[in-house]
Amino acid sequence: MKKVYCIGEVLIDFVAEQQGSDLSKANHFTKKAGGAPANVACAISKLGGNGIFIGSVGDDPFGKFLLETLKNEGVDVSLTQLSDTFTTLAFVSLAEDGERDFVFSRGADKELKYNPDLRKNLPGNILHLGAATALLGGPLEKTYGRYLFDGLTKEMFICFDPNFRIDLWKNDEETFIKKCMPFVEKSHLCKFSSEEAQLISGKEDLHDACDALHKIGTKIITVTMGKEGTLLSMNGTKKIIPSVKVKPVDTTGAGDAFIGCLLYQISDLGNFEPVFEDFSLVEGMVAKANKAGAITTTNYGAIVALPTKEQLEK
Ligand code: ATP
Repeated sequence: MKKVYCIGEVLIDFVAEQQGSDLSKANHFTKKAGGAPANVACAISKLGGNGIFIGSVGDDPFGKFLLETLKNEGVDVSLTQLSDTFTTLAFVSLAEDGERDFVFSRGADKELKYNPDLRKNLPGNILHLGAATALLGGPLEKTYGRYLFDGLTKEMFICFDPNFRIDLWKNDEETFIKKCMPFVEKSHLCKFSSEEAQLISGKEDLHDACDALHKIGTKIITVTMGKEGTLLSMNGTKKIIPSVKVKPVDTTGAGDAFIGCLLYQISDLGNFEPVFEDFSLVEGMVAKANKAGAITTTNYGAIVALPTKEQLEK
């Protein structure tokens, strides 16, 4: 089983309990561990894989909570750094008009420093860069670029998920697109939502979007489309792999469950060659990852809702 190094954002989401009012009126919040790459590490470890999370948390009770949560799911956090800066916090509420009200207090996550010792461990393993806050500047952004560079060896498999958040990039989408380019160029696999594929490629039609994104460099593309399933594009072939029918209650974390399950299956292969060559192999993996995404929507929250291996096989 290969290791999957998931690098980047980890934070506390304070979710307003009383939905339908903006943050100025919300009084009670539920504390939840969040951050896309941290969720992906949990998804991998819950399935029995080797999920390693590398991020930065504050040396404070919230940082302690995040580390405990990840450890409880079997994630290796030994390379996660403790910062003097407070743990990153996000406050979220769904206002009356259905719009998300969002306040972001960025702290320790941006402080992640490059660890040159990791370079010797990376070859033969998987690197997952689930950007989100990582492209917002600070030492983390530089660290991201350096790990991408380190990952460019023949033996590595690099995965990129831009995790675009409109709240963080309002009126500055062009900068986001520009910053994504080297990652789309160098990563072997990119996971996009349909909105991300359209935004980064500049193409409305998803087939055209995939063609444009392949031209930038990435060999394998998955475009997740909620209950419509996932568009897989590789080796000149495109196919929608249908999702599993469920009654969703909360779709948070479905995308992370999807990519975590896909990477878990890739990590279980002896070598990465077949992933580039065999469309039907990857199609089968995507079908299973769709199932992981669907299961996650049937429960509240992100990390707790991620399936175990037993739940996935059921
Ligand atoms: P996130 O908001 O977590 O970043 P995303 O937009 O990246 O999500 P989604 O498309 O919402 O990802 O979900 C990922 C996968 O989970 C989908 O491709 C699909 O297979 C499955 N999934 C999501 N929502 C549903 C649903 N309502 N019914 C069935 N399957 C679903």
